[in-house]
Amino acid sequence: MTISNLSDGEGLRLAAADAGLLEGGIRSAGLKVTAPRLAVLRALTDRPHSTADALFGVVRADLPGTSLQAVYGVLASFTSAGLVRKIEPAGSPALFERRVGDNHHHIVCTHCGVVHDVDCAVGHAPCLTPADALGFDVRAAEVIYWGLCAQCQAESALP
Ligand SMILES: [Zn+2]
Ligand SMILES: [Zn+2]
Repeated sequence: MTISNLSDGEGLRLAAADAGLLEGGIRSAGLKVTAPRLAVLRALTDRPHSTADALFGVVRADLPGTSLQAVYGVLASFTSAGLVRKIEPAGSPALFERRVGDNHHHIVCTHCGVVHDVDCAVGHAPCLTPADALGFDVRAAEVIYWGLCAQCQAESALP
């Protein structure tokens, strides 16, 4: 069911519940709720693995006074509060997502750059046990799998 299938009243109630969830998420990370923080978190909820630039494009539509610098500031505070995860595939600007704390990995297409989540390879975090952890208490492993996505494979197979 999408919002557009609902009557206006139902859609508004859903939007309000959604705003409450977003505010709760910001507060539970120990941060104050501000309009730019709400807007960035909402944009990130709709589009995981976004760059700061892409989020700025969405947020600017809601809050015309927002600057790219402000979006970077919000993302930095979210990342250090653990509300948002930052991933940095080689050759790509940093990407941000709300899915945190589950040590999931990413798979990136070398041709079109599409990014998907990949669950932990096997077992619990870190799912990759180093041959020698050098005495570290290892908590996480970040893996990026690289390859051609299904669509790019299909397109490259065309005559
Ligand atoms: Zn691709
Ligand atoms: Zn992810």
